[in-house]
Amino acid sequence: MKILAIGRNYVAHIEELKNEKPTEPVVFLKPDTALLQNNEPFYYPEFSQDIHHEVEIVLRVGKEGKHIEPKFASRYYDQIGLGIDFTARDIQTRAKEKGLPWETAKAFNGSAPVSKFLPVGEFADLKNINFCLEVNGEVRQEGNTSLMLYDFDYIVSYLSKFFTLKAGDLIYTGTPAGVSAVKVGDRLVGFIEKQEMFNFEVK
Ligand code: MG
Repeated sequence: MKILAIGRNYVAHIEELKNEKPTEPVVFLKPDTALLQNNEPFYYPEFSQDIHHEVEIVLRVGKEGKHIEPKFASRYYDQIGLGIDFTARDIQTRAKEKGLPWETAKAFNGSAPVSKFLPVGEFADLKNINFCLEVNGEVRQEGNTSLMLYDFDYIVSYLSKFFTLKAGDLIYTGTPAGVSAVKVGDRLVGFIEKQEMFNFEVK
C-alpha cells in the first residue's frame, strides 16, 4: 500500500505558515513504514527538535483505478478515518528554503498515525465533517471539510492521473489551522464529530 498526502488544502493553515495558495493540489507520499495503527505510540525522532502535529481526514481507497473522472471518484473510496501527518518542521523549513524535496521532513518512520475507519455511508454529508485534535485534553486543531480548497472527489481524481490507486491506499487530505509542536509525554486524541478515533502517546 501507499500513503498519498495533500498539502496546503485549508486556507487558514496556508496563512499560518505563510505559504502561497496553490493553483493545484500539493502532493507528497509517505512509505508504509510511516504508518502507525491501533494507537501505537509515536517515538520522537532524534533528528528533529520541532515535530508538529497536523490532524487530517484520511480516505481509504476501496478499489483500483487511474484517470478517474471527478464525477466517478466517490466510487473509489469507501472508508474515512483520521490521521496525523507528523512533520519535522525544522527540516521542512530548511528544505523549502533550498527548494529541496520534503521526504525526510514528512515520510519518516511513524509519521503517519491513522485511526480506525468508518464506512462512507455513515456520513450524511462528506462536505460537512467536523474533526478535531486534542493534546493533553486541550483542543489544538479544529476543522471542517467544507473549508477544503480541493474536496475528496477532486483529490482522488487528481491523484489518479499520476498514481494508480489501489485498494488499501490511504489519502491524507490536508490539515486545518492550529499546527504546533509536540513533546515527549503528550497524549494526542482525535475526534470525528463527537467520536473518538485515535488516542496515543508521544514517547
Ligand atoms: Mg499535512
